[in-house]
This record gives sequence, C-alpha cells and structure tokens, in this order.
Amino acid sequence: MNLSQRDKAVIWHPFTQAQTAKDPIAIVKAEGIWLYAEDGQRYLDGTSSWWVNAHGHAHPYIAEQIAQQAAQLEHIIFAGFTHEPAILLAEKLIAVLPGNQSRIFYSDNGSTSVEVALKMALQYNFNKGEERTKILAFSNAYHGDTFGAMSVGARNAFNAPFGKLLFEVMHVDAPEQGNEERCIEEFRSILSIEKPAAFIFEPLVQGANGMRMHSANVLSELIALCREHGVLTIADEVFTGFYRTGKRFACDHLTHQPDIMCLSKTLTGGTLPLGVTAAPEFVYEAFLSNDKYKTFFHGHSFTANPIACRAALASFELLQKPECLINIQQIVLMHQQFADELKGHPRITEIRILGTIIAIELKTDEERGYMNPVSEHITEFFLARNIYLRPLGNVIYCTPPYIITESELVTVHNAIRAYLEQ
Ligand code: PMP
Repeated sequence: MNLSQRDKAVIWHPFTQAQTAKDPIAIVKAEGIWLYAEDGQRYLDGTSSWWVNAHGHAHPYIAEQIAQQAAQLEHIIFAGFTHEPAILLAEKLIAVLPGNQSRIFYSDNGSTSVEVALKMALQYNFNKGEERTKILAFSNAYHGDTFGAMSVGARNAFNAPFGKLLFEVMHVDAPEQGNEERCIEEFRSILSIEKPAAFIFEPLVQGANGMRMHSANVLSELIALCREHGVLTIADEVFTGFYRTGKRFACDHLTHQPDIMCLSKTLTGGTLPLGVTAAPEFVYEAFLSNDKYKTFFHGHSFTANPIACRAALASFELLQKPECLINIQQIVLMHQQFADELKGHPRITEIRILGTIIAIELKTDEERGYMNPVSEHITEFFLARNIYLRPLGNVIYCTPPYIITESELVTVHNAIRAYLEQ
C-alpha cells in the first residue's frame, strides 16, 4: 500500500469532506518552492502551504538552528522558567512591532493567539472593574477555529453547527470600496451607545474570506475612533505579518496603530507552530496585583517552545537579508504587472492585489465564496501543470514563498492565464 492508501485508513484531514475528496497527495520531501510527491511528481507551492512558508521548504539555515536547539534545550514549562530563544525573539519583535506593544505572550498557533488577545482585552476591563464585555468585529472575518475565534468571525458554513454556542459579537461590514462612509458611520453610532471591550480585525486583507481588501485610511480612522472611546484594538496579523502585504506588517500601512497584535504562520518561516500575542504596557499593568484573581490564567503546555522560538529567530534573520526584501519587491511588481494585464478580462469580476498577494475573483452563476464548487476543478487544473494552488471557492489566489524566482512566478502567472483562456 502506498502512503495515500494508508492515510485513508487512519487519518481525518482538516477542511476536507472525506466522502468526496480526491485522495491526498503524499509528499515525501520538499525543497525550496517544490513539493516532491510519492509518485515522483513535483509541485510548485503557490500558496506557501496555507500561507506559512516564507523562505522555501526545508531551508538549511532554519533546519540547522532547529537541530542545534533541539540538542540543547527542546522544551521546558514556561511558568516559573524562561530561556534565551523566547527572550531574544520577544526583544526582536518588540523592536519592530508598529505600535507601542511591549509584552510578548506566546501560544501555539493563529487561533490561540486570537483567543489570548480576546481574553486579554476582556480581562483587562474586568480587572479594572469596567463593564465592557462585548467585542466588535467585521462581519465577514476569519480569525480561526477555536470557539472565541469562531465567535468573532463570520457566521457561515464553517461554524454553523456551533452557532448557538458562539458568544454574541457586534459585527459590522468591512469598509470595502463603496461602503466606506457607511462603515465609519456604523462605528460611530455603535460607539455612541455601546461600550465594547475591543475591536478585532484582519488588517487590510480578509484572507479566508476570499482575499477581500479594504483601505488603510478607513481602517486607521476606525482605530482612531476606538481609541477615542476607550476600545482596545486587536490586529490579527496571523496571515498578513512578515511581509505578506509587501511591508513587514499590514499595520505598517496604517497611520494609527492597534494596541494588541496577533502573529503566527510566517513567524517561524513556516517550519513550526507558534503564536504570539503582543500587548502594550498599560494592558500588562492591569494584570499586576497582589490579588491573585487578577492573574492571566492562560497557558499551553508548549508555550514558548524553545525550538519554535529558535526557528522564528532564524526566519527573522533571513527576512532582514537584502536579497529577501529585493525578492519580495519583485513579487509585488510582477503581481502588479500581471493584474494590469488581466484588467477587464471577461471571466473576472475583480482582481485584488496587495504586496505578495494576488487574488482573482472569477465570474460565477453559483454561490460566491468558499463553497463555490469550481474550486476543485481549479485545483485539478493547476496540479496537472505541477502547480499547487488552493482557491477560496471562485477566487484563485497566489501567495508564494518569498524565494520564488522570476521564471517560477512567470510559470504560475502563465498557468492562471491558461486557466482563464480555456
Ligand atoms: N487569523 C487569521 C487572519 C488567519 O488567516 C488564520 C488562519 N488562516 C487564523 C487566524 C488561524 O490560524 P491557525 O490556523 O494557525 O489557527
């Protein structure tokens, strides 16, 4: 039996309807942009493996750093103990985070970084004796699959079975072109009546919601409004962090900065799971007390895992290299040129680009969005050309690892062109 067959007997895959899904492709090795399958095929990773990979797969420097760390200190409990990789990573992050964040809380992934942020914001108010228990969020957001993250996300097929169990959230449509004034007005009117604890958002790009984008100016205005009304702001940069939008953080495009930031995915260069929730000093201070009940009672067994922190430090180092930043700018430019060329194409409703992200929304007679059945056909089309893309329903997108070469990106763009022409 090959790996795909053995998998079918024992594995339950994420976001997969096993009854109808094609057999999973068993990958036996990966190097740079390429994934090598058991049957000898290779595939160009056009989505950075669920948006995590920055420097290509099995990067030798990150692998070496991981190996060294594993041999020296693989893990310790992070309550009552500390270690250099966690401290050094916190120091490096605080030096570059765009707002006044000064404290790093570690967790395991994007969803947990969001749970931590929500709990911090709620308990911040609780500790101060303030009656602020509601969260404000964009109605078509995605923040993860744990219960708090689902609650602040869009109410849709992903969480319908749990609808009654999700906590109440004030949802406002994101300020996409055309409804920007309405969004600002809605915020004003909510803030004049309600006292939310926090506003959480994916800055500039709503990834899982089909790479929908909104303007930096309007988001900055919403953050400023929240600040005027004592509402904490939480930027979920799990997807956008570390140059996905062309700048180090999506918030680097803004004129007003959030209080709390969530990071994961590209944090470790895509090698190991790690989540970060960064908070400003005034939030941290609200938990300092002789009263034990004011403690932030949250933690995971693998909080601040030293190997994951070391991988993040290695990735951070690689991201500072001039060649990495030059490559990112090249992707940005090539995506822009490709988008210009596709403008007005009869099969396209909209092309959205920001930084290293290009998303092409196809015209469709069926349900717009994730559940649109065209996605499986699209995946097959690209796999047949040795490219792995995983569309979000009727939205084809490409978010490549930053090491993609000019000719490799031309290959991806050409394949998208061919898909549109068939
Ligand atoms: N927030 C955002 C903006 C995301 O895109 C994701 C994952 N796609 C998450 C949170 C959840 O991250 P994870 O899958 O690591 O739990």
